[in-house]
Amino acid sequence: MTTNESAVGEADWRRATELIRAADTPALACHVSPDADALGSMLGLGLALARTGKKVVASFGDRVFAVPRLLRFLPGQHLLVEPPAYPAEPDLMITFDASTMERLGLLAPHAGKAGELLVIDHHVSNTRFGTVHLVDPGAASTTMVVEELIDRLGLPIDREVATCLYAGLVTDTGSFRHSITTPAAHALAGRLLATGLRPEEIARDLWDRSPFAYLRVLGTALGRATLEPDAVGGLGLVWTYVTRADRAAEGLPYDEVEGMIDVVRRVDEAEVAVVLKEDDEGGWNVSTRSKGTVDVARACAALGGGGHPRAAGFSSALTVADTMAALRPLLAPEGSRS
Ligand code: AMP
Ligand code: MN
Ligand code: MN
Repeated sequence: MTTNESAVGEADWRRATELIRAADTPALACHVSPDADALGSMLGLGLALARTGKKVVASFGDRVFAVPRLLRFLPGQHLLVEPPAYPAEPDLMITFDASTMERLGLLAPHAGKAGELLVIDHHVSNTRFGTVHLVDPGAASTTMVVEELIDRLGLPIDREVATCLYAGLVTDTGSFRHSITTPAAHALAGRLLATGLRPEEIARDLWDRSPFAYLRVLGTALGRATLEPDAVGGLGLVWTYVTRADRAAEGLPYDEVEGMIDVVRRVDEAEVAVVLKEDDEGGWNVSTRSKGTVDVARACAALGGGGHPRAAGFSSALTVADTMAALRPLLAPEGSRS
């Protein structure tokens, strides 16, 4: 699994810092349906830059623009603008945690027209769609790359910036449980904690609260969970789905079910876990998780999505049954890999 991918080269760091120093109105964008790493890396750098007097705009290209409830605690939300207000041809556009141009959704055309496009990411599958790339697959989170960038710009990391960076770090490492939890990840956590941020409050906002309606919808989804012991070459597959009708019955917004995969993936009898989530428009977002022997990023990429080897996803316009029929044969153990 160790890929000897060299981290970011000095020339890229130099170019990135030059571009940022020269930009008066940097335009920031993270991937659609932002998670804590996407939004945290964008708002963390956005806040650090705004404090130097730059006119920063930040956004993400969702058709219905709303910050997920559990990320509303992140500082820097005043930097956000809706896609229609985003500059059409930014001099400098910076993207966060997006592995492809398509992951920018409505803001992809803006990226295509940007004078310079700085891509900051940690996906090994990043397609290097910009003009300058700070892409480090060895980084546990995009916020780790942003920390180094802020340091190289000579800017301070105060408690608000630290809160943004920590949220991405703690989320993408699964609270320091995933294999990507390097000594550097813990070192960054230590540095960020030293600014006085409140880890217990961040953890509570991110994972330990829900409206009551979530329990009801979770119960419905878990009630129809399926275990297929013979799937994944005999290593087992567990999966379930949650429809918009399930949510509508309880008045539960889509973003509240994003974390459901974390309940489903704990099943001992299954190497791979899948949750299909229907959005308000009737499309499906599929979350996949592997314990290590299956590269789910590869499987999801074959269906138009992507992600990390053990945590990946894709979108589907098919029915639940047809989506699973397309995915199942792609979930083969890698044997020697990983
Ligand atoms: P999720 O299951 O939504 O938490 O997504 C897990 C990971 O998969 C994310 O961190 C992304 O890297 C990736 N991912 C999810 N959905 C997509 C998609 N439609 N296209 C590309 N990558 C995705
Ligand atoms: Mn992400
Ligand atoms: Mn990430």
